[in-house]
Amino acid sequence: MLCAYTKENASVLATEAHKNDGPFHCPECETELILKQGRVKIAHFAHLPNTDCSYAGEPESETHIETKLEIYKALQLQPGVSKLQVERYLKEVRPDISFCFEQRYIALEIQISPLSFDELIRRTAAYTKKNIYVLWMPILSLEMFSGRYAPKEWERDLSSLYNGIVYYWSHGLDLVPVEFEKYMLTPGRYSSWSEKASKRYVSPKMLPAVSILKLSPLRQPKRFPYPAARLWGLPVDDASA
Ligand SMILES: [Zn+2]
Repeated sequence: MLCAYTKENASVLATEAHKNDGPFHCPECETELILKQGRVKIAHFAHLPNTDCSYAGEPESETHIETKLEIYKALQLQPGVSKLQVERYLKEVRPDISFCFEQRYIALEIQISPLSFDELIRRTAAYTKKNIYVLWMPILSLEMFSGRYAPKEWERDLSSLYNGIVYYWSHGLDLVPVEFEKYMLTPGRYSSWSEKASKRYVSPKMLPAVSILKLSPLRQPKRFPYPAARLWGLPVDDASA
């Protein structure tokens, strides 16, 4: 974990914490956490062994942690951004980054590992209930630059949820919105069909990069199987233009 609570119940980042600020504790299970500021791994907090806290489970990848910190540092420099926090504890959800901008609460979920449909729905609904606009963002990969891409199931889910666009994070505050267009298979010499769309591959259409702060709040009505949702994204008209 990058963030813990001090004895005064103030949240503190491991990269900015001093040993003297401790003892630190976990917002979920309230047990004491160990501050680890080594040379090899990025500073973080760790539970004691044999805890059954859900936050102690699978460790996040270095990429996930580095991305979180890069976005956090970029947002720190932006005027108008307030209440900026990494891993804010909101009981049902814990956004990687959250902040207030133009009187709206925004949560960023950096997605690297597989995401189940149920979890996507659960967290999106939880944010919506708390009047928070959520942006789910995978990380841009080189694969996107080839004309053929095999999106994972959860990337397709994100595309459906966000009106046909997935927002891939590239660096700093920059996102590359991507539309999944049909990837047409060319028939072989002896096949009877003329041309058909691949089920596995899409042709990624990369839209111009956009800053996280240039996106807008979207109030998405309930649309089966998606619940009503507060999303942070491109306005629908702009997106299809
Ligand atoms: Zn805990």
